[in-house]
Order: sequence, then structure tokens, then C-alpha cells
Amino acid sequence: MPFVAMTGTLGELTVPLVDNIREIVTLVQQIGNIDLYKRIVDLQADAVNLEQENLRLREQVANLEKKWEIQEDLAFRDNMYWRSSGEGPYCVPCWDNHRKLMRMAGNGDLFHCHTCHYAATTEAERRRMDADFRNWNQR
Ligand SMILES: [Zn+2]
Repeated sequence: MPFVAMTGTLGELTVPLVDNIREIVTLVQQIGNIDLYKRIVDLQADAVNLEQENLRLREQVANLEKKWEIQEDLAFRDNMYWRSSGEGPYCVPCWDNHRKLMRMAGNGDLFHCHTCHYAATTEAERRRMDADFRNWNQR
């Protein structure tokens, strides 16, 4: 979901609520009611905090949406994850436990994760290892 365009400024952001309150503060200053002025200044601080919280939550939603898109795009094969584009493999424990898409290093048949040291093999490599084990047992 794209960010909704806002007007006014809050750091890099543009915010209409904070701008409106700033204008009200100016009007209340002109009236000269100190209690009203203090209340409006407090309200302005609350508005800034709400806008910052809103920004944080928008970023959190965008982050979760991105992770959901990745989850939907992952396929489980050979005990590893692969993107529909063919990219991969990616570490299963790193994604399942921490939602970190960690690429696994390997030689085409044996792969491992540098972050959690999870290791996985392709089906072809498992068959080759099973054959080696049988041959070794028959000696
Ligand atoms: Zn890992």
C-alpha cells in the first residue's frame, strides 16, 4: 500500500494536523489566554507524537506486507526455500524463526547458512551420499 500524500512538515514528512495546530497556536497567542495557549501547545506536542507513531506503524505495515509477499513467493524444496524466480536457496530456520531471508552458500549440492549454520543437501546429493555409504558398508 503506498503512503498517503500529506502536507505540512514533520522532519522529512509533511503533516496537515501539525500544521493546523501550529496555526491555532498563533491565533491563541493573539488572544492572550495563557491557559488556553498552554493547552494548545500540549495538544501540538501530542499531535507530533501521534504523527511519529503513525509513521512508525506505516513503516511496520509496509515491512510486514513485504515479508508476506516473500512468504507467498517461497517454495520449499530440498529442505531449503527458493523464490519463484529461481533465486535461492534460502535458509529455512532463518526465515521460519526470524523472517530473515538468508541466502545459503554452497557448491550446487551441499549448502549451508553462514548465519545459523543450518545445512541442507539436494536430493541428488543425498542419493549420492546414500550410495557412498552403501558402498562403504559393503567393503
Ligand atoms: Zn540460517
